[in-house]
Amino acid sequence: MRILAFFLLLTATSALAAPDRLTPDRLTQAAALRDTALAKSEAWPLLESLTTNVGQRLAATPAEARGRDWAVKAMAAAGLVNIRTEAFPMPLWERGTETAEITGAAPQRLAIAALGFSGATPADGITAPIVYFADYAALQEAPPASLNGKIAFIDHRMMRTQDGSSYGVNGVVRRVGPALAASKGAVAVLIRSLGTDYHRNPHTGSTTWPEGQAPIPAAALSLPDAEQLARRAKAGPVSLHLVLTPRFNPNGQSANVSAEIPGTGPEIIVIGGHLDSWDLATGTIDDGAGVAITLAAAKAIKDSGIKPRRTIRLVFWGAEEEGIWGGRAYGEAHKAEPIVLAAESDFGADRIYRLSSNVADTGLPLIAEIQRVLAPLGIAATRNNSAGGDGDVAPLIANGTGTINFEQDGSRYFDYHHTPDDTLDKVDRTQLDQNVAAWAAAIWLAASDDRALRKK
Ligand SMILES: [Zn+2]
Repeated sequence: MRILAFFLLLTATSALAAPDRLTPDRLTQAAALRDTALAKSEAWPLLESLTTNVGQRLAATPAEARGRDWAVKAMAAAGLVNIRTEAFPMPLWERGTETAEITGAAPQRLAIAALGFSGATPADGITAPIVYFADYAALQEAPPASLNGKIAFIDHRMMRTQDGSSYGVNGVVRRVGPALAASKGAVAVLIRSLGTDYHRNPHTGSTTWPEGQAPIPAAALSLPDAEQLARRAKAGPVSLHLVLTPRFNPNGQSANVSAEIPGTGPEIIVIGGHLDSWDLATGTIDDGAGVAITLAAAKAIKDSGIKPRRTIRLVFWGAEEEGIWGGRAYGEAHKAEPIVLAAESDFGADRIYRLSSNVADTGLPLIAEIQRVLAPLGIAATRNNSAGGDGDVAPLIANGTGTINFEQDGSRYFDYHHTPDDTLDKVDRTQLDQNVAAWAAAIWLAASDDRALRKK
């Protein structure tokens, strides 16, 4: 009897205690989470539900608010607790009519999409000559006032890459090209889409205007249309008739939604994706996928019944596309909390091929452990401990929070990104589940650990 009582006591004690790091148990649990999610995760039904029943989720609109209602229900259904919605102010920008046509003896309609925060033309549009720039550097060299009364057309050469780096290099064309052209007198701007597909799908995305610069009409051309216009410009003078009628309201509102698996200790790990999307499709790879992957990973951990040491907090940020409004509001509101690690899934649904980090040196053995558990998923380890903190987690990381970067294969991401083609059929379920497997195992290992991760 005494022996039995001793064993009962031992079992009860170990069940109550937080799991010790480096025990075979912890690694076994991570491997089980990995293998269960890889066989079949909850991500696909979640992604199907969000993109079918809610659809596009443009920031600060009722559609984005319906996305939050969906999120609250999905988080509760997954068994997460402490569900919170935190509102923040931001401007509302909505697309209007958008048409472009080469005028003259050989008229030609061009496929365009207004850039977020584009200014508007009069309702009947404007007609003006085009000035061609091969890239952003060429526009920089244009003399002041040289674009008075003209439409600037900025070309570039974005390449297909696995890591998406060409988007970063050429992104300046969209983000600040229109403002630079406006400062030299342009009445409107067209850019070659930041994309890699050769379909007549323009890629939208935000542009920015410095204080004091009135927005001018700005739109992206699909790649075939950009090349058509470039050939016409090379052949001789070409004019365009352009109609862009977006609406702007400075007093809009968006919100972040969060929920938790409470830990036994005070520290917090933040994971998630952004709930808003562009309006041209259903916001599937950007970023319904990130929402579904991280929610499915949290649900997998919750369903396994294992209790984390660190609280796992799932955050769905609002209004990322239009300038990381949600991430900035979140970083400010939560800067005093002990958030030790933060990671966002926002690069589609294709497979993770590499894992990098940015944590305190004390956390590097944990990163090595995570990499070992993820290796069977075909995820390469890297010693790069300077992973960038992009997107919504950037403000947390700038404040000292550590991060891990699940680097996804971006080879086809920019065929669909911000286009009318960002739809559910583009998602490969096997690759989607590989993402969930990696997130569930890695976040469990980090949440059951106690080694310091914050960099300051
Ligand atoms: Zn995104």
